[in-house]
Amino acid sequence: MHTKEIGKNLFIVDLEAGGFKNLIASYVLKGNRTIIVETGPTSSISNLLSGLKELNVNPEDVVYIALTHVHVDHCGGTGTLLKSLPNAKVIVHPKGAPHLKDPAKLWAATKEVLGNVAEMFGEPEPVPEDKLIIAHEGMTFDAGNGVKLKTVEAPGHAAHNLSYYEYLNEAVFSGDAAGAYLSEYNTVFPTTPPPFRPDIALISLNKLISLDPKILCYSHFGSASDAVRRLRDYAVQIKLWLKIAEEGVKKGESTETIREAILSGDKRVREIASALKENPVHRKTLIENSVQGFVDFARKPKI
Ligand SMILES: [Zn+2]
Repeated sequence: MHTKEIGKNLFIVDLEAGGFKNLIASYVLKGNRTIIVETGPTSSISNLLSGLKELNVNPEDVVYIALTHVHVDHCGGTGTLLKSLPNAKVIVHPKGAPHLKDPAKLWAATKEVLGNVAEMFGEPEPVPEDKLIIAHEGMTFDAGNGVKLKTVEAPGHAAHNLSYYEYLNEAVFSGDAAGAYLSEYNTVFPTTPPPFRPDIALISLNKLISLDPKILCYSHFGSASDAVRRLRDYAVQIKLWLKIAEEGVKKGESTETIREAILSGDKRVREIASALKENPVHRKTLIENSVQGFVDFARKPKI
């Protein structure tokens, strides 16, 4: 079973990219028509398609693919998926659209940032321009039977991060704007690779809090109740990491030293850091890249 019902007309698909469970999620909303939130990477599109089959989704009924941002773990499989979904249009932030049309630069950057992990995700195929819907703040997308999404620009993790508010379950699909939810530890770990902007991320978090959601649907991984408290906690965590990174930079410390200071200074991640380091994807994307995002920001001269 790849799929699970997690709300009204709302299902999660565990994409099991690279064979890793609980790493990357797609969400399926079934109204009169169907909306998919996140495709995941190219390498796990076959798992998404078998998930859709399990949910009895007719490929012709998928009208929207809602992408949160143009990083390959979230959207890399879009071009491949579209070949199986003849009526689907792709909702994407204006800054992300060019990288879907021509993913060459995105793929080169992914390989540089993620190394071997990029190969595990697979190279993205281009998305035809006529399939794209360039989405701005506050646009709504209706699949009938009460299933409706609203776009909420939530930059910080990336300049092109769109989150989505879902009316029926009062849910937010956060993309990477709310961190990675590690359900086995019931904790959230920052998703903050360079060029992370903590100042902008905090504004986005306030915006998501103001929607007063009941459920948060994390792309990494899964849904969680207590959404507002989790968003508030994440803001506190970002402020803490930033403070530790800024202090380290002021003292001229190495990235390595700052990383250890952050991991030991944050009680939420202190106990789980060594377990995360054992998973190659978490070690690269969470432990290394997330700290680097804070260090790079702290080192940048402020105007
Ligand atoms: Zn991600």
